[in-house]
Amino acid sequence: MNPLLDFSGLPRFADIRPEHVTPAVDQLLAECRAAVEHAVAETTEADWQHFVAPLDDANEKLGRAWGQVSHLHSVMDTPEMREAYNANLPKITLYFAELGQHEGLFKKFKALKARPDYAALSDARKKIVDNELRDFRLGGAELPDDKKARFLDLQEELAKLSAKFEENLLDATNDYALIIDDKDELAGIPDDVLETARAAAEAAGTSGWKFTLQMPSYLPVMQYADSRELRQILYRAYVTRASEFGKPELDNTPLIAAILKLRREAAQTLGFNSYAEVSLAPKMADKPADVLHFLDELGQRARPYAEKDFAELKDFAYDELGIADLQAWDNAYVSEKLRVARYSFSDQEVKQYFPEPRVLAGLFKLVETLYGLHIRQDSAPVWHPDVKFYTISDHAGQRVGQFYLDLYARASKRGGAWMDDVITRRRKGEAIQTPVAYLNCNFSGPVGGKPALFTHDEVITLFHETGHGLHHLLTRIEELGVSGINGVEWDAVELPSQFMENFCWEWDVLKHMTAHVDNGESLPKELFDKMLAAKNFQSGLQTLRQIEFASFDMHLHDDFDPNGSRTAQDLIDEIRRQVAVIIPPAYNRFPNNFSHIFAGGYAAGYYSYKWAEVLSADAYAMFEENGVLSPEVGHRFWSEILAMGGARPALESFKAFRGRDPSIDALLRHNGMA
Ligand SMILES: [Zn+2]
Repeated sequence: MNPLLDFSGLPRFADIRPEHVTPAVDQLLAECRAAVEHAVAETTEADWQHFVAPLDDANEKLGRAWGQVSHLHSVMDTPEMREAYNANLPKITLYFAELGQHEGLFKKFKALKARPDYAALSDARKKIVDNELRDFRLGGAELPDDKKARFLDLQEELAKLSAKFEENLLDATNDYALIIDDKDELAGIPDDVLETARAAAEAAGTSGWKFTLQMPSYLPVMQYADSRELRQILYRAYVTRASEFGKPELDNTPLIAAILKLRREAAQTLGFNSYAEVSLAPKMADKPADVLHFLDELGQRARPYAEKDFAELKDFAYDELGIADLQAWDNAYVSEKLRVARYSFSDQEVKQYFPEPRVLAGLFKLVETLYGLHIRQDSAPVWHPDVKFYTISDHAGQRVGQFYLDLYARASKRGGAWMDDVITRRRKGEAIQTPVAYLNCNFSGPVGGKPALFTHDEVITLFHETGHGLHHLLTRIEELGVSGINGVEWDAVELPSQFMENFCWEWDVLKHMTAHVDNGESLPKELFDKMLAAKNFQSGLQTLRQIEFASFDMHLHDDFDPNGSRTAQDLIDEIRRQVAVIIPPAYNRFPNNFSHIFAGGYAAGYYSYKWAEVLSADAYAMFEENGVLSPEVGHRFWSEILAMGGARPALESFKAFRGRDPSIDALLRHNGMA
């Protein structure tokens, strides 16, 4: 039997071969399409049992099988698996696009909601129906035919413009190079960066050193080059990418104007006032004014700290570096010098205190203490010998969920760290299907007979991903569409993950998680204090910068008139005058390279970074107020937030846990701004 078609238990990673992919996908897609046909048929009752449940069953199988394929593609990449993945991806994408646009399904969901027995459905089921109807409406399903055609054209046109925006930025970045022949001009730049620059020049057939606007070349110059002139030249090139100062065919200015106009038209076609309202419809934040109010409040509170940060920077530049007129191209350089002068410690030093067994034991102990659970290593088929597998059970010994832990970097694994779902909790008749998750990281593995050693950042990453994992695994919801991480609002998904990071800054937790790899001693308190101070270095300036971008994004998609005479650049200039402490030079064209909002999925959503930080910090403060290891608060966090999945609005879950609306105080305090 094709192992991808075996849904009786855990994935059969030892048996899956690339040649299994296409037959499995084709068969499951055929079953899904048959389920859709059946669901929309006149003769099919528009109730849960006949309409939604069979669709869920079919889609779950496809999702599970394809999840295993894309997981292997991410963590055990081989030419054969990549080929199988790429050959099938378009079919999967097409199927889900069809589902999202399917008029028959939309009609049937409306019919389901109109039935008298709808009222008797559980809250979770009602939420699923509401989410479906909302997404169909946001996709234009309710528009009359002429408007629908125009709406779909707009979507297509917007997709093209966004792709072009990203291409222009990439081309403009790659189009630039600066060759330096005189080594004296390169003083201060680290040797490895210089070696790379030397090799790049050689590859380009020239002498000297070649610098580009790609991060690994640009950033070290800005941070370390003693030459102000060199920094100024590269800075200007960087902040004017894809603008009127470069090649006209790579200028993003007209694309920005066009994107904003089309987004407004699309929003109005759907009956909204602005694109920001469309963006917020499926999110936790209610309306643009709420987000702007949130950003203003945070900005006002952070401002004095940003002013203090900036004054310190200017003083240090003058006193220690002889720079009397601090400029935009000096900031990174002076900041780096100031940071080293104040908080120098090395990651290497810290790493010796975080051997893997100690860190995992500390992490598991924390989860066990907070939630009254038990975590034990277990066996399951895995995709690589380094992968570990664990089972979580409750105090009665009942299995709650399971997870794979794949910690080390490999050539066959994509970069970064991420959590993904393998199996979602749901009721199947009398039985409960327990959830399973993948936790993937890219840490360095053990060397020379010693355990793997993690930097503090890596420990934070592990806690972060575990937070996502627990969100998926500790759900108590029994309906696929809103169980675990499914159906959770986009601006609320980082709450459980960022929440977990806080414990990595908690001395009482951390000291038990450390043991020097050679002598077993715990992390010295003085070193921890330095780490903590370094964490909050320039947090005022960094907060204001995020607020400047988020506020620009929200205004641009809300009250800015895309058909008026003001430009996006005019708007950011104005916002900077109100918000920023550091005003960049007039030639700075930040909007032209703000791909998060013009090419990524962050339009009228950039605020979510700060939003999630506020929620997670405020949730954590509940623990600080009652004891950070309080099982009572842990139990409440589990039942009101982790357990609820997407079955109720995230704001309601937060309030049920906290007993009030979110407050920004805890985040400010955690960042040293209180
Ligand atoms: Zn995350």
